[in-house]
Amino acid sequence: MNTTSPTAPDDHLFSVYARAQVEVERGEGVRLYARDGRVFVDLVQGIATNGLGHCHPKLVETVKAQAEKLWHVSNIFRIPDQEALAGKLCDDSFADQVFFTNSGTEAIECALKLARKYHDAKGNPERIDVITFKGAFHGRSYAAVNAGGNESYTKGFGPKLPGFVHLSLDDHDAIKAAAEAPTAAAILVEPVQGEGGARALTEQELRFLRDLCDANGLLLMYDEIQCGVGRTGKIWAYQWSGIEPDVLTTAKALGGGFPIGACLATRDAASGMVPGTHGSTFGGNPFAMAVGLTAYGELSTQASLDHVNEVSGFLRQQLQGLKAAFPDVIEDIRGKGLLVGIKITPNNREVMALARDKGLLIAGGSDNCVRLLPPLNLTIDEAREALGLLEQTFQTARETLLSKEPV
Ligand SMILES: *Cc1c(COP(=O)(O)O)cnc(C)c1O
Repeated sequence: MNTTSPTAPDDHLFSVYARAQVEVERGEGVRLYARDGRVFVDLVQGIATNGLGHCHPKLVETVKAQAEKLWHVSNIFRIPDQEALAGKLCDDSFADQVFFTNSGTEAIECALKLARKYHDAKGNPERIDVITFKGAFHGRSYAAVNAGGNESYTKGFGPKLPGFVHLSLDDHDAIKAAAEAPTAAAILVEPVQGEGGARALTEQELRFLRDLCDANGLLLMYDEIQCGVGRTGKIWAYQWSGIEPDVLTTAKALGGGFPIGACLATRDAASGMVPGTHGSTFGGNPFAMAVGLTAYGELSTQASLDHVNEVSGFLRQQLQGLKAAFPDVIEDIRGKGLLVGIKITPNNREVMALARDKGLLIAGGSDNCVRLLPPLNLTIDEAREALGLLEQTFQTARETLLSKEPV
């Protein structure tokens, strides 16, 4: 029996998060309301997940209707909304087939298994290596942290899994050598890195990887869990270059805040995934699929994509203005569309706290970035409001954080 008395309200939770002192209560659009009455402009949105903002009326309506209709059945039955959502995802992409999951990590797991099974089914079971890159983030399962390769996520968790080759995106010779190895199976890459600091790959970089895959029989797998579903102003970030993958993982905005992930693939890439090779109890359940159809339906319209391009154009232009005004604070503006990274000089965690004090929620990122991940229906007025709070934040950062350093 547990005889210790709790000392803090969160005492019974694993302490894996350094949580901000905001006790959330409700949300509406771009705004998040705390229990103590504070109101925030939320540019975190569950980390790029609430693509339509908090509690979008159409999603609320869908959830209410579906709650009275059907929640969960096993995938041993046909689920019409699952077939419908898969059809839409395939119509809008390179893909022929989809497997639905409950999270991004599970979509990555599916892609990793698919890659090995693909080669195994073609008589090449020795092809197991997946090439991944510095600055990548692919999730938190045992395989996903090994795929991401970030030491701080793999350290202390026992032996590293075999089958991952972790390289720098700039080291073309090493990437070429790894792709030509007889054990190579696939290349896994984020067309726009998220947690890694919002680095958008160039068309040349994607072309280089595609050509290597074609020349050596590897699968090219894009992780669009964060940058997909309209965030960059196209449905998929890869569509800016037109360089198609064989496999694509997505999640985050796909359910508009409801947990849904998906692994998309060409029919050939998925050819090893025959009955019995993979499965999920909850993945693709009727509740998730109903919400997904509404969220994806809204976010994939041309009007939504046009809006993202308009607002992100405005936001980036204004951010360049801030960079010119705060050259001592802002080093670089990165990312694509409404996946915005700002590399700053003062500590990013401290700047996030300053922003919070002013009523603005922003996300962190590697390479001392902060990320702006607004809902994709953010209005120009809301963008202006957020920029005003950001300007105040950088002003305070200049006065309080930079002055700490010796001059
Ligand atoms: C968030 C994220 C994941 C992991 O998704 P979860 O839903 O947290 O499991 C994987 N890859 C990328 C690029 C992500 O942004």
